[in-house]
Amino acid sequence: MKHLYLHIPFCHRRCSYCDFNTYANMESRIETYVDALCAELAMLAAEPQPAPPLSPEAAALRPTIFLGGGTPTMLTLAQMERVLAAAAAVVPLNGAEITCEANPGTVLERDYLRGLRGMGINRLSMGVQSLHDPTLRVLGRIHTAEEARRSFEDARAAGFANISLDFIFGLPGQTLEQWEHTLETIVTWGPEHFSLYALILEERTPLYAQVTAGRVSVPDDDATAAMYEAAMERLDAAGYEHYEISNWTRGQPCHHNLAYWLNSDYLAAGAGAHGHVYPRRYCNMPGIDEYIRAVQARRRPIAETTTLTPTDLEAETMMMGLRLSRGVGFEHFAARCGRPLEVAYGPTLHDLAARGLIEQNEGRVRLTARGRMLGNRVFERFV
Ligand code: SF4
Repeated sequence: MKHLYLHIPFCHRRCSYCDFNTYANMESRIETYVDALCAELAMLAAEPQPAPPLSPEAAALRPTIFLGGGTPTMLTLAQMERVLAAAAAVVPLNGAEITCEANPGTVLERDYLRGLRGMGINRLSMGVQSLHDPTLRVLGRIHTAEEARRSFEDARAAGFANISLDFIFGLPGQTLEQWEHTLETIVTWGPEHFSLYALILEERTPLYAQVTAGRVSVPDDDATAAMYEAAMERLDAAGYEHYEISNWTRGQPCHHNLAYWLNSDYLAAGAGAHGHVYPRRYCNMPGIDEYIRAVQARRRPIAETTTLTPTDLEAETMMMGLRLSRGVGFEHFAARCGRPLEVAYGPTLHDLAARGLIEQNEGRVRLTARGRMLGNRVFERFV
């Protein structure tokens, strides 16, 4: 298998907007969890995996391992090393893009960062989210803007030459001027990659409750759209390529996420992790203890499996691929789905092009500027 996601479901405390599968105050379980994760990886390594033909685009991706969470940087270096050694039996580390999500509140030690780099982790994805300390407090983040900047510099000093920064816009109380100031500042840091997301108010989060109760206000859709436009303009001026709806890079796109956008197969391990090996998608048990118990009983800790039809595969290949600025390649679609794009969606493509929402050239179909603004209307045509 070429791509592997590993979920580390621990956080020091829950951020107010987060609905990820992650748990606070469970530090005592980390060592046992790491044992279970390594055992699950051994099970995955022992299973034969299908090797479907890849399009040139998918074949060109590096192998990838992505340590996400939660907060993977809550693992000690020794625990991280054990996880990587177990992962190496699934995806060879040599030549792989190995990303670790990093919370600036946990990675201030340079020795720790050097240790991560030294064991082969070659990409850091740092969740900074905001440079406004009062907002960081509302979000429940455990770091200040200054700590985030120091973590970034420490990561550079530790030898990380591929760093991605995550920010959120449309935050409580955020103004366009504040966001523009943030953009001005972060381009001077010079990371290789940015992921910028509009705030999504997820039900069952404390922030959702605060906003719906009127205690906290967030910018409206127009103001949030203006922030997105500002990001496109500023990052374009700074030489970043806007290669996916929420992602920009200077020469180092995230190969792991490209695998998702190409609708490639990938394995996933860890509590609540989702994997996709066509024709099946699976989701692991979300609870830390149920996950550990299943693995200790030598069972795959799968909570749910969905069988995908060829129609599902085609729809997902379009919906994921159209997120990319370069769109979906006809050659890629045919290699992944087994029949030509025109045969699967000829009339739909014709109609969307007539409405100015997509365009076709050089063997690819992509969203127009108007299509990007109305992305959901395009995506629903492929379901
Ligand atoms: S650090 Fe990340 S995963 Fe953990 S609670 Fe905050 S947003 Fe969620």
